Amino acid sequence: MMRIFNTRTGVKEFFIPQDPFEVKVYVCGPTVYDLCHVGHARTYVNFDVLKRYLTSLGYNVIHVQNFTDIDEKIDHRAKKEGLSPREVAERFIMEYFFDMDSLNVTRATRYTKASEYVPKIIKITERLLELGYAYRSGDAIYFDVEGAGGFGELVRDLKSAIVDEVRASGKRGPFDFVLWRITGEGFESPFGRGVPGWHTECVAMSMDNLGEVLDIHWGGKDLIYPHHECEALIAKALTGKRFVKYWVHNEFVLLKGQKMSKSSGERAYIRDVLKRYSAEVLRTWILSSNYREKIEFSEESLRKAQLLYEKISRAATKARGNEGMGQCAKDYAELFMSALDDDLETGQALSVVEELSDRVLEGKIEGAWRIFSLVESVLGIKIRPH
Ligand code: AMP
Ligand code: ZN
Repeated sequence: MMRIFNTRTGVKEFFIPQDPFEVKVYVCGPTVYDLCHVGHARTYVNFDVLKRYLTSLGYNVIHVQNFTDIDEKIDHRAKKEGLSPREVAERFIMEYFFDMDSLNVTRATRYTKASEYVPKIIKITERLLELGYAYRSGDAIYFDVEGAGGFGELVRDLKSAIVDEVRASGKRGPFDFVLWRITGEGFESPFGRGVPGWHTECVAMSMDNLGEVLDIHWGGKDLIYPHHECEALIAKALTGKRFVKYWVHNEFVLLKGQKMSKSSGERAYIRDVLKRYSAEVLRTWILSSNYREKIEFSEESLRKAQLLYEKISRAATKARGNEGMGQCAKDYAELFMSALDDDLETGQALSVVEELSDRVLEGKIEGAWRIFSLVESVLGIKIRPH
């Protein structure tokens, strides 16, 4: 049985979905105002492997993912380029698909856009007002964090997480966050024309498509606080239930020691990297580490991944066609699967494949093709004839 690290409890837990045959997952998608960089590649490739693995275990994975297409950064880019925010968002949604398709990331069961969920977001905001978990102050509707029981679902060391929170005027509590901001522009609502808060968007989109309780909620580590913590509190206030069984977060790709980020300027776009390395090499590079380890983006580590990929594809080419599995190959297959069972240790799984490849190339083992076909189907690394 698979074990997965749950951010909520801080330990690896056996994975038991609500339904024995089906897994309901919500993945936070990108804010669409720029091209995807290698950090995004990591987040979506890591999740893709979890999804492929769960599928290989026999689960029907229902994967819902959003595009955050309401954001000041989109408006800003639109103004700069003389386009409408919608045109900017649509362009970068297409670019997202272009990049992720080239990385062999399987498509979600359903993609949603925040802009299409505004009526549902308004309903949620109205309901929270009715229940007394939200209030109006000045030009905004806020969520009353203390009134709803306070944070604590994911953030244990609240002090360090909230150190830079300021008590903004008009808020009842320092951590209260905006559910709806009245700006005079944007979307019509009973509270006044304005824009929704980011956290409510994901609650609306996930609950509408997957129900009140999700099995897995995935995202990069930066989403733990405030985004996911706030989502959890909103959902609990609405339903009285714990929103998510397994909160799973991947670590960052770093560039010169800093989180690669589209706003800071330190980034490597996926399509630029793919001019120098194949998509298989980039995937191998991402999967050479566990999803919970930081990885530094560097030429040296990419070249290492390239050597590994070449070795694997040479061995796979030699093994292709031989469908039988001897005991030795079976042992490797078991090691491969048990690495993934242990919190998706893709780095470990690739080490197993590397060792196997060495033995295949030395002619010491035969009938290993089925393991290489797992590399293709579960790790999503296509084997090119070598
Ligand atoms: P954003 O478009 O910034 O909202 O990011 C979309 C997803 O990519 C989120 O789950 C982020 O956590 C993730 N992400 C952004 N930057 C990085 C990075 N440098 N490393 C890993 N994941 C990232
Ligand atoms: Zn989200």
